[in-house]
Amino acid sequence: MKERLRAPKGFQDVIPPKTFIWQHIEDRARKIFKNYGFHEIRVPVVEHTDVFVRSIGENTDIVEKEMYTFNDRAGRSLTLRPEGTASVVRCYVQNGLYTMPAPQRYFYTGPMFRYERPQKGRFRQFYQIGAEAFGVDAPYIDAEILCMLNDFLSDIGLDGLNCEINSIGCNKCRPGYRQALKAYLLSGLDGYCEDCRRRYDINPLRVLDCKVPSCIEASSDAPVITDYLCDDCSAHFRKLRKYLDSMEIKYELNPRLVRGLDYYTGTTFEITTVHPGSQNAVVAGGRYDKLVEEFGGPSAPAVGFAIGMERLVELVSDMDIVKEPGPGLFLICLNEEYRLTGIRILRKLRFSGLWCEMGFGASSLRSQLKKADRAGARYVFIIGEDEIKAGRIKYRRLSNGEEGYLPLDDYENMARLISDERI
Ligand SMILES: [Zn+2]
Ligand SMILES: [Zn+2]
Repeated sequence: MKERLRAPKGFQDVIPPKTFIWQHIEDRARKIFKNYGFHEIRVPVVEHTDVFVRSIGENTDIVEKEMYTFNDRAGRSLTLRPEGTASVVRCYVQNGLYTMPAPQRYFYTGPMFRYERPQKGRFRQFYQIGAEAFGVDAPYIDAEILCMLNDFLSDIGLDGLNCEINSIGCNKCRPGYRQALKAYLLSGLDGYCEDCRRRYDINPLRVLDCKVPSCIEASSDAPVITDYLCDDCSAHFRKLRKYLDSMEIKYELNPRLVRGLDYYTGTTFEITTVHPGSQNAVVAGGRYDKLVEEFGGPSAPAVGFAIGMERLVELVSDMDIVKEPGPGLFLICLNEEYRLTGIRILRKLRFSGLWCEMGFGASSLRSQLKKADRAGARYVFIIGEDEIKAGRIKYRRLSNGEEGYLPLDDYENMARLISDERI
């Protein structure tokens, strides 16, 4: 295939049987998020560039280097969304959703776009499942969200989860910490990487986020934010931990968990798995109590998270616990003429909600049975000369070879049989 006809670098197709795992994860998320009162929201993949610059922050990696930004034909600067929260907040304010009873809870799924260096497991179009709860600043909502994430991740079979939490303070207490941190960093600034030296002026907290080993080493005994929290922030954080304890959610405190986006305030969290070769976070989130106001909305505290789909799919695939079931029926017609009867049966059974397949071509019974087996079908129906003469179909349950007959027009019992109900 010609290079320029292939999918662009960093963009991937999702094809069967992998799509089944995607659907399985999304289905479970929908089901479990609903139990917690989250409603689905669908926002565009394109927004005015300002939506992201103002919320994520001008001096973040995303805005500086990773956005797909372009001018449309009328010269407007638009951007393919690099994350979901900014769009959801824009939607929340624009549609006046804050007039609904609080908390207003929403979730979304869909593709995000970042111009990152493509590497294993990282894509320029990647998918997230995210959720946001607005209008309540009580730590109970933070705890509830972490509880929901725990339910979801264990439901899809992930174990060995490591949940880390932190509080990065508010406008009242963070400046004091920022100052203390800057004072600490200044003495050894030459020992830090170029990015960190740049961050020192603009956003020193992000130095704690740096993955360069020498930076981690150099900042290992930096002052921690939790020692600087104001009374409100520390009471909020204390209450959150109490709720988590009461719900038996395991967590660790990580005072270095500062998150790379500017809009976070108070609680931040990350969930990582301890599966081999995957130290990266599967979930990241936190509070952003001031963002709605930034968008011209009322004062509406909020908390949310995003889950990386590709990572989850990879983990679930590796565990090999989710298998797509095969069709309920594989129909075999031993002669082209009998197919006229066969397709009528197929139509009725499919209409009643069953997944049915049929063998094509003039291959032998033996090779069609092989196909049925390979497709993972539960039953085969066989229509041959004897069956047509007697006005019945022959059925066989593939798992145990059990056989029998049903009248050619007894669709109701055919459906029951395939659904494994008693006839
Ligand atoms: Zn505070
Ligand atoms: Zn660094």
